[in-house]
Amino acid sequence: MAFENLTDSAPAGGISPESAAHWTEAKGSALLDLLRAACALRDEAKGDTVTYSRKVFIPLTNLCRDDCGYCTFKRDPGQPGAKTLSPDEVLEIARRGAASGCKEALFSLGDKPELRFPEAAQELAKYGYRTTVEYLVAMCQRVFEETGLLPHANPGTLSRREVAQLGEWCPSIGIMLENLTPRLREPGMAHAAAPDKAPGARMATLRFAGEQRIPFTTGLLVGIGESPQERVETLFEIKRLHETHGHIQEVIIQNFRAKPEIPMADWPDATLTDLLRTIALARLILGGEMNIQAPPNLTPEVYPLLLLAGINDWGGVSPVTPDHINPEAPWPEIEALARHSAEAGYKLRERLTVYPEFITQKSGFLRENLKDAVAALADADGYAITHEKRP
Ligand code: SF4
Repeated sequence: MAFENLTDSAPAGGISPESAAHWTEAKGSALLDLLRAACALRDEAKGDTVTYSRKVFIPLTNLCRDDCGYCTFKRDPGQPGAKTLSPDEVLEIARRGAASGCKEALFSLGDKPELRFPEAAQELAKYGYRTTVEYLVAMCQRVFEETGLLPHANPGTLSRREVAQLGEWCPSIGIMLENLTPRLREPGMAHAAAPDKAPGARMATLRFAGEQRIPFTTGLLVGIGESPQERVETLFEIKRLHETHGHIQEVIIQNFRAKPEIPMADWPDATLTDLLRTIALARLILGGEMNIQAPPNLTPEVYPLLLLAGINDWGGVSPVTPDHINPEAPWPEIEALARHSAEAGYKLRERLTVYPEFITQKSGFLRENLKDAVAALADADGYAITHEKRP
């Protein structure tokens, strides 16, 4: 299939599964065609804007009942570094973030550790909570009410009721799908010991958020044992859900990198080619309006290529706290991000945790109690009022 066929079919609602399958292993000039088509579609819809969110990371707990083969974040009780933040610690981090001009409090945490570890249940009971999600909801409320930061939570799988409770205080919520193939739960695979990575449970969480009209972030982790075709199939599942509910605000495409301390230490890193192909296919499948993100700290020196592949967002950048999920990869300074973007011909613009279109265009996606706080931080286009412009 030629470049013209890609560009002709993509704007009219995205390329077909057959066309996407054709491009999953594109190489050489075909790969360049794929990237050019994705870039053109992004430029047409998003212009020369690339966004980021100025956020503070709050690692609420690194205890987790799952054991994903690639995880560097989780600790078991008693291991060095195992930690559940106290309410005072949560608020202290959030206040530092607010003082540095952050607008978003990103809560990172393990999934339901209390179901596996009595120590986790005891820690929660100490603060007066039964579940990690109950504690998370309470901390999101306090951070929102006491610091003015907008919480975004990544707690893993949620029930319909938990989605509703979190949605009271979080303008947006997230869960990475990683990949929906059930093969990853087989013995020896990345999710073999991760009950919360069951594809059905993760898709259900996305669906509950859609039914309740909560802006939602999801994404893929590339290179954990899935096939190129399975990446495309996961992207089409996201697309189908978004067509029903309209709530997917961004899709993150992240690349696996081996680290000595993880069970998958001997796996090969995802290649840059696989990352670029997946970003470009995400753009062409999900369309020009979707926000596609690749974190810059996972792929130093490839900023222009990520833009060429069709991203329009760099994700969260913290002037205060390290990236707790990938601590070995320091966040670039925001100024450096602006410079790299400008060198590639794009203007860096700060956004809030909830994307501009959910503030200015799409109705019914912001809870009444959150509207004033979001409006106070947003400019007329729905982007963040920047630090420099605030009174
Ligand atoms: S669910 Fe998240 S925190 Fe838990 S092991 Fe998997 S990647 Fe790590």
